[in-house]
Amino acid sequence: GIIRSLWKRKVPVQVGRMYYSSSPATTKLFIDGKFVESKSSEWLDIHNPATNEVIAKVPKATQEEMLAAVDSCSRAYRSWSETSILTRQQIFLRYQQLIKDNIKELAKSITLEQGKTLADAEGDVFRGLQVVEHTCSITSLMLGETLPSITRDMDTYTYRLPLGVCAGIAPFNFPAMIPLWMFPMGLVCGNTYLLKPSERVPGCTMLLAKMLQDAGAPDGTLNIIHGQHAAVDFICEHPAIRAISFVGSNQAGEYIYEKGSKNGKRVQSNMGAKNHGVVMPDANKENTLNQLVGAAFGAAGQRCMALSTAILVGEARDWLPELVERAKALRVNAGDQPGADVGPLISPQAKERVGSLIQSGVDEGASLLLDGRNVQVKGYENGNFVGPTILSNVSVNMKCYTEEIFGPVLVVLEADSLDDAIDMVNKNPYGNGTAIFTTNGATARKYTHQVDVGQIGVNVPIPVPLPMFSFTGSRGSFRGDTNFYGKQGIQFYTQIKTVTSQWKEEDATLKTPAVTMPT
Ligand code: NAD
Repeated sequence: GIIRSLWKRKVPVQVGRMYYSSSPATTKLFIDGKFVESKSSEWLDIHNPATNEVIAKVPKATQEEMLAAVDSCSRAYRSWSETSILTRQQIFLRYQQLIKDNIKELAKSITLEQGKTLADAEGDVFRGLQVVEHTCSITSLMLGETLPSITRDMDTYTYRLPLGVCAGIAPFNFPAMIPLWMFPMGLVCGNTYLLKPSERVPGCTMLLAKMLQDAGAPDGTLNIIHGQHAAVDFICEHPAIRAISFVGSNQAGEYIYEKGSKNGKRVQSNMGAKNHGVVMPDANKENTLNQLVGAAFGAAGQRCMALSTAILVGEARDWLPELVERAKALRVNAGDQPGADVGPLISPQAKERVGSLIQSGVDEGASLLLDGRNVQVKGYENGNFVGPTILSNVSVNMKCYTEEIFGPVLVVLEADSLDDAIDMVNKNPYGNGTAIFTTNGATARKYTHQVDVGQIGVNVPIPVPLPMFSFTGSRGSFRGDTNFYGKQGIQFYTQIKTVTSQWKEEDATLKTPAVTMPT
């Protein structure tokens, strides 16, 4: 029924400007299939990072509203978990098409609230879309296992089944991709989902919710609440919630992991990073410098997989002046301006923090080869802009190395050998991503095997795996034991039931009780 009625609808759906208007619009809650105005007395402003103008408001949902959202998830679970897997697959086939048809609209909302360039915002949607496309293979991904004849007339088989109500808590830096790592994976497995987007960038998530509804997801399968600590605590504490996916900072992620686990929930927590790009002197210089500059300063460095640290090995040290020249050539501008390479940071506080971390490097003896702190962007004087910045002569005990900067700042260290570089990377507490640039296969192989980091690029600066694999950040960048999306994502959002079944011929019927352990 659902599917047939879907095809009658117009494509693409009209989603543009639904949640914005000229005066600051209010971001709605999405409860039980309805976009509803919050009754909260507490609201937060959402700013355009390029101008700091208030563009919308977001509520801190009330306790009553949060309860209504989770109750809606619980009610919807009863029928959604029993919906045929082919129906769920059809909804997601439809959903991926709607996202594709509206990619520009989604990107615009991202640039408005988050600040990244439009081209980069499309990439944000695209990488999330790939996860949605992957969910369409659910009919294979959810297969169980069978082993016939484990003893006479006896077979064992497993079912992968949903958990119940699952929840996601998202960060500001990928307003489309990260929510799309979460609820589509959860829903396609038969769970219902409570999502709390970042209070700084909720607009894109609301558009994605509308499209999911238009794709045919029944009321209550996805509910959205807004807020900060109280909403996070609610999610960590509510007994109906069985699993929590978190992406964001270590401060929040460690708290959520501990609190959620203590309350008996599954938690996967993707957190901060300090990703090293190791540059060997035999690397293709042109390619390497361009890759490094793109990965350090793209999205103004606000990516958990940004290559924020370069280790120049041996003679690659001599490439520093050219690295600086390339970084200098990047154009800093509002994300919706043509030709912009580097957009603003998310907030004045983020700009202030990045500026003080740059200063700490200078104070501790690093050389400031390129200083983006006083960058002026014509027409956007109030924006949170920091231009590409390079600190060299950095050592491992400096604050600009030990802290995640999350801005357009590349810190450069030096090493005499590959072994020294590996040692440095392994001593850093984070384990999200890394890349090695080399033309030597044996060097690449050694690096790949010896470095204790979850995602490794060989001449690939931002090795975020496609969704048939999983996002395998490790050590200080991850808590939990099952990663996001791919096979591990399916595992996270399902539980296994193992059935042992015996069908005997009549004459083999047990004649007396079997009191010993069956062997
Ligand atoms: P954040 O931790 O400030 O916010 C993330 C979410 O947690 C938000 O929804 C927010 O409301 C909530 N939150 C914030 N502080 C909290 C607290 N003290 N207690 C409970 N909840 C809290 O993160 P952010 O600034 O939005 O995102 C940037 C961070 O996310 C960076 O550290 C970045 O490396 C990380 N990140 C990691 C990955 C990854 O996959 N490893 C991907 C993207 C971003």
